[in-house]
Amino acid sequence: MFLDQTYLFTPGPTPIPNQVNEAMARPMIGHRSPDFSVLIEDVATRLQPVFGTKHPVAILTSSGTSALEAAVVNTVHEGDHAIVIVAGSFGDRLASIAENYGATVHRLPIEWGKSCSPEQLDAFIDNLEGVPIKAVFATFNETSTGVLNPIHTLGQVVKEKTDALFIVDGVSCIGAVPVDMENDHIDLLVTSSQKALMLPPGLAFVAFSDRGLQAIRECPERRFYLDLKRYVDTYEKQKSTPFTPAVSLIQGAQAVCAMIEDEGWENVIRRHLLLRDMMRAGLRALDLPLLTTEEDASPTVTAVRPETVSAPDIQKALKKDFSITIAGGQKDLKGKIFRIGHMGYCTPFDVLKVLSALELTLAKFGQKPRFGAAVKKAEEVYAQYV
Ligand code: PLP
Repeated sequence: MFLDQTYLFTPGPTPIPNQVNEAMARPMIGHRSPDFSVLIEDVATRLQPVFGTKHPVAILTSSGTSALEAAVVNTVHEGDHAIVIVAGSFGDRLASIAENYGATVHRLPIEWGKSCSPEQLDAFIDNLEGVPIKAVFATFNETSTGVLNPIHTLGQVVKEKTDALFIVDGVSCIGAVPVDMENDHIDLLVTSSQKALMLPPGLAFVAFSDRGLQAIRECPERRFYLDLKRYVDTYEKQKSTPFTPAVSLIQGAQAVCAMIEDEGWENVIRRHLLLRDMMRAGLRALDLPLLTTEEDASPTVTAVRPETVSAPDIQKALKKDFSITIAGGQKDLKGKIFRIGHMGYCTPFDVLKVLSALELTLAKFGQKPRFGAAVKKAEEVYAQYV
């Protein structure tokens, strides 16, 4: 068997399109040059519809966690109260970051595999009556469980019940889902490059509402590399970044903008819904239990809790026999689930590939062969969409 072809189905990093690789291989340019100013302004503004913001998007050279840390240090100060919705390992990380900076964090625990309902947030805020909440943090798409939180209705609750900033970790869904920062009441929205934005790891993005921008401008806290005010000022005055950026990745981001525009942003969103629905229909046809309900299902990653064959065994077999890489579970779900990423540079045919490999893998582990069953169901979903 030829194993030099590899298939990446993790929820980040994700496959890189050729156009993006080619753009990243363009000759280097100086980051204090007029060429770079043209480049960064082009990318920062063309990304605006993807983040649903009317302000240019800040591009940091670091991973998503640093942008989340930046979101914390630029808004929440020692002793401030913050609510963090914790529905999985990334919500947990967000809470830890805020705690590390001395915030008093009120964790709203949600059962892993479920979304946070507006009613849960509402009741949690009611219980904190009298506590001045500086910020509410939410994970838009909880990558560890494959849950998409109802960010619009959560934002409405934050807006109606508090004066807090609403800060959203959109790392594993921005570039795949619709978002409108004003309408969703999001003040800071963060993502990283290696997910639905089809880039290698190395860039992090922060988008702002008017209020979010004002908050970072007024922040009295000490910070340096993660100083978003310094970032915004440098961008506005010089169309550059405060420190040396990953120029090649930003060149790649320009190609990503062109790809999203060519496909059409609405079509990108629709494709991710199609990928989700094909994947879920196929997995169900193999009697593989899904971790989430239809209502909570993420359009970018699907988590499966197999009962008859262990998740790590399936993961290993896919790698060994088909060079397919998927992800395992994290923390409490380690060893219990596997996760398939389907975001960014991913097509319906990619879903068929991984489903057919799963059919063969389950048969290899002694299950009654269901050759073609998952592919058939996924194709039926496809046929209804197009
Ligand atoms: N938040 C979410 C929801 C994620 O999925 C990830 C990474 O998988 C992160 C934060 C951390 O981002 P990074 O690994 O780019 O630091």
